[in-house]
Amino acid sequence: PDTITVQELANRMAEKGADLVKALFKMGMPVTVNQTIDQDTAELLVTEFGHEIKRVSEADVDIRHDKDVDDPAALKPRAPVVTIMGHVDHGKTSLLDALRGANVQAGEAGGITQHIGAYQVKTPDGSLVTFLDTPGHEAFTEMRARGANVTDIVILVVAADDGLKPQSIEAINHAKAAGVPIVVAINKVDKEGANPQRVRERLLEHEVIVEEMGGDVQNVEVSALKKTGLDKLLDAIALQAEIMELKANPDRAAEGTVVEAKLDKGRGPVATILIRRGTLKVGDIFVCGAESGRVRALVDDHGKQIKQAGPSMPVEVLGLGGVPMAGDTLTVVENEARAREVAAYRQEQALKKRTAQAPVSLEGMFSALA
Ligand code: GDP
Ligand code: MG
Repeated sequence: PDTITVQELANRMAEKGADLVKALFKMGMPVTVNQTIDQDTAELLVTEFGHEIKRVSEADVDIRHDKDVDDPAALKPRAPVVTIMGHVDHGKTSLLDALRGANVQAGEAGGITQHIGAYQVKTPDGSLVTFLDTPGHEAFTEMRARGANVTDIVILVVAADDGLKPQSIEAINHAKAAGVPIVVAINKVDKEGANPQRVRERLLEHEVIVEEMGGDVQNVEVSALKKTGLDKLLDAIALQAEIMELKANPDRAAEGTVVEAKLDKGRGPVATILIRRGTLKVGDIFVCGAESGRVRALVDDHGKQIKQAGPSMPVEVLGLGGVPMAGDTLTVVENEARAREVAAYRQEQALKKRTAQAPVSLEGMFSALA
């Protein structure tokens, strides 16, 4: 356990591996960069190179700023982050497309719309709403399981001709478990046999009490197909957001959550980051999960290169050392040595976790087979 590869040590010291090998050779130890050395030798090398010895502990690399609370005076309103959930075929994808389509700029219309896993839409009152465009419950629960509670509001889509179905009820339970308010979109009201009132009544049975039934849950009748009720839905979201007084400090080092990540043929590792607080800028040095990097470029949800991104903005980040995982946190740090130190520590931890992983539970296997 108390050994380190020469390369790893070089990384942490921000020195060249070859220089360490040379120094070790002079000390009578012919090793390559991939070989390990013991702690005493490592310490000797560190002092030899004029660096300070700092033991890395859990606390040292714990840069989740959970405890680092922002000054209330520094908080500014931010856009709500919305996830669309509902039963299969009730129109989640259609609604996401309709909301986005209504907001696509003239030059973009007909062109290729950028798909980065999230996008922003302007509401009639001019405020912004961020939609995560990976509908479905797995994305929501998986992100939550990874500690990434990014969703502020859940839009529950219920088809007016089909009514509440098992996955609608599941969505209600997920939202409740997460303490996230629901806005109901009663979809497909254009269809024959549509019965929105029946939906409102059935919701009552699951303790989702809409305004017409004396509760405070907003519901909006929409048709994703005919594109009706969309502005009303956006108004409802804006109102819900206002009630929640969502705020973040834009004037600090950025922190965000990975919504999507991939290895792009031309651009290398690319991650869509939802900024939680602070402002991410081109040139910023960061840690993202077990990867480190420097922001080479930022691309917004319209495919446009931008210089910076503030709270609740989804943005594609280029300049990662590798591909992070959805739900990982991106944190801007002061310098590259720090970024490498934290990333290296997290890589070690991830490796330990993998090797110590428990066998799959029977329950997990059954659902995987289903
Ligand atoms: P998802 O599984 O929840 O993502 O549902 P989709 O968006 O894929 O929609 C399922 C089907 O319902 C598709 O054939 C859509 O064209 C249709 N659909 C969605 N919204 C509406 C609507 O408002 N009215 C009507 N008539 N059909 C719709
Ligand atoms: Mg779909």
